Amino acid sequence: MSATAPITQDVMTLPRKLPEGPINLVGLTRAQLRETLIAHGTPEKQAKMRTGQIWQWIYEKGVRSFDEMTNLAKAYRADLAEKFVVEVPEVVSKQVSDDGTRKYLVKIAGGHEVEVVYIPETDRGTLCISSQVGCTLTCSFCHTGTQKLVRNLTAGEIIGQVMVARDDLGEWPEIGAPKNETRLLSNIVLMGMGEPLYNFDAVRDAMKIAMDPEGISLSRRRITLSTSGVVPEIAKTAEEIGCMLAISFHATTNEVRDKLVPINKKWNIEALLDALRAYPKASNSERITFEYVMLKGVNDSDEDARRLIQLIKGIPAKINLIPFNEWPGAPYQRSDWKRIKAFANIIYHAGYASPIRTPRGEDIMAACGQLKSATERARKSRAQIAAEAGLNG
Ligand code: SAH
Ligand code: SF4
Repeated sequence: MSATAPITQDVMTLPRKLPEGPINLVGLTRAQLRETLIAHGTPEKQAKMRTGQIWQWIYEKGVRSFDEMTNLAKAYRADLAEKFVVEVPEVVSKQVSDDGTRKYLVKIAGGHEVEVVYIPETDRGTLCISSQVGCTLTCSFCHTGTQKLVRNLTAGEIIGQVMVARDDLGEWPEIGAPKNETRLLSNIVLMGMGEPLYNFDAVRDAMKIAMDPEGISLSRRRITLSTSGVVPEIAKTAEEIGCMLAISFHATTNEVRDKLVPINKKWNIEALLDALRAYPKASNSERITFEYVMLKGVNDSDEDARRLIQLIKGIPAKINLIPFNEWPGAPYQRSDWKRIKAFANIIYHAGYASPIRTPRGEDIMAACGQLKSATERARKSRAQIAAEAGLNG
């Protein structure tokens, strides 16, 4: 892709291998699960009830073997076990940071690896999940952007990340135990690897599963999807997922945003803001989060802060300042603390919440934008990234 080539959704055209062997039930929507059961011999009359029962075993109790689904007849369980599996990605390694952040490396079909990060805080526990292996986009400050898109994750692999984290946190209630109110994993952010809106259907199906009240049961307000600004998919996100939205804004002029977030060449700041203004869920109680990575001397001036306020006027917003997380070979530096504070101050005085995101898990390279699977060989060269971001002029 040259610097001027349009950014295409080439991911959609990647050939997908059909699954071999038993069908994995994880990631099927309720309707798909019902259809799958019927197609494999469950009488239509029983299908709704069986779907509900199996769903609860998988998503409420965290059960992986049909044998444990004790409210189903033994013969039926044996039949299910022949045809289906309940499979989640395999956790290859786990690192725990000094600050309690956990980073899991999980392996998915094809041997690809994806990183998942769990961030415990006093009032919540947030799981940062990935939607793609790599990314088609090439944001010049993002480590994932240096890795070519390998493939989209399936809905099962996306919700599977939540399930393996719950396994590790031991958060599935004991079978038969009263409902466990402890929520170690209370929030999900789609802020790992990949652009979620370039894998819309799988992300939607997985998040619907996460929100289902008879399963993982997270409120839509506790799920935040972060996008670099895939404008045509923004209204669809409100309609079909209804979760909270975060925008990787990062710059206050098209010239700078073109370099930092090259999708801006396709949908610029004005087009993006139009889409956000129309985001039907944008009410005072449902603010859009503007993510803004603080890059020394690039986007961190007082003037930038003032321009940012002007631009987002009228949009219920929260501005999340992210001190740049450095990675080997990164072409930027983190803004000085004093600068970040001054920037935050201007925003705060304009009436916006402007939390500065504390970098978490830096010692294990788990911070935002540092994720990249070390084993992936399909890498972009630094020159290619610089050219694509227009950094060379
Ligand atoms: N592709 C989506 C979601 C993944 S990135 C998106 O771009 O929004 C999640 C957030 O981390 C984004 O706001 C992204 O811009 C930010 N980010 C990426 N690299 C970073 C880095 N090195 N330091 C700090 N934030 C970074
Ligand atoms: Fe992709 Fe988001 Fe990284 Fe940009 S910031 S390269 S969209 S993962």
